[in-house]
Amino acid sequence: MRLSQVVRSGPGQYLCQTGALGFLAPKLQHFQQPCIIAGEKSLAAFKRAMPETTATAAAGADVLIGIGGGRALDTAKGTAELLNVEYITLPTVLGTCAATTPLSAVYWPDHAFRSVDYYHRSAYLTLVDLALLITSPRDYFLGGIGDTLAKWYEAEAITRHQPAETLPVMVRMGLAAARECRDVLLRDTPAALDSMTAGEVSPAFQRVVEAILAVAGMVGGCAGESGRMAGAHAIHNAMSHLPETHSVLHGMKVAYGILVQLVATGDEQEVVRLLPFYRHNGFPYNFATLGITTPAEEAIGLLAHYAAREQETFRLALPGVTEEQIAAALRRVEQLACDAYSLSGAGR
Ligand SMILES: [Zn+2]
Repeated sequence: MRLSQVVRSGPGQYLCQTGALGFLAPKLQHFQQPCIIAGEKSLAAFKRAMPETTATAAAGADVLIGIGGGRALDTAKGTAELLNVEYITLPTVLGTCAATTPLSAVYWPDHAFRSVDYYHRSAYLTLVDLALLITSPRDYFLGGIGDTLAKWYEAEAITRHQPAETLPVMVRMGLAAARECRDVLLRDTPAALDSMTAGEVSPAFQRVVEAILAVAGMVGGCAGESGRMAGAHAIHNAMSHLPETHSVLHGMKVAYGILVQLVATGDEQEVVRLLPFYRHNGFPYNFATLGITTPAEEAIGLLAHYAAREQETFRLALPGVTEEQIAAALRRVEQLACDAYSLSGAGR
């Protein structure tokens, strides 16, 4: 039994509120030697919120505290697995559900995607402090929304060929979590972004934060391999071979990948429904908005080649998918984006 097939409903303990970081010190009383793993900016943000915190070096640590975004949290999780100790996650940006999932996305030193590694432990504790996150970078927030939106479209595509009533109930739970993510994001994203602009925590902001950080983690956690990455992430992974997209955040590339997957699976009307949401909120919907400078046909060939490979996840959304089918979907998304652009009026 692979770890990716085991139900993992979430962190052992989870708290999301303004001032949640105040619970860290009492929770640490169960440990002797905590060690922080954080990026520099994340550590600075954390210390502004919790100036009195002290932690020791990694040697002999009995709990790791990951502070940051996907990279820092994934590093903390992987290190905790190697050391076989508990870990606590404190997300400081809203880029991914890394805070609540027992897995890491692992990259080669040249930024090319390597693998998703699954771990034996889930987080001992996840603390989500809304006061800290309302000041977090807006582009990461957008990326987190894009990545979370994919949960529904990928899980639905993977499971659509089986009658819903015959799916295992835990898979149905995962799908319900994915649907909740989609509904929250399509409804609350504009208000949540306004909250961030104003620097004021609102119910819409909290709903979107929890969809990204916690509910998204339950999709794969409950549905297992039926709730995993599929076509949208295969497009993201293929983009790691286009150097000009390395600065584009994971979730933004995944958001674009949703559109490609939807066209490939014959759901073009859903793309038409999503395009205004993408444009209004700033998600990429074609090569130009992704900043792709490689000539279009060359980029299409490269993306289709990598996304269609046997070991890639596009075939989970569309079994037996070919390079030609993905290339046609990429071209069609360019066309639909162009049509939507000209329909929605000139000058923008
Ligand atoms: Zn993702």
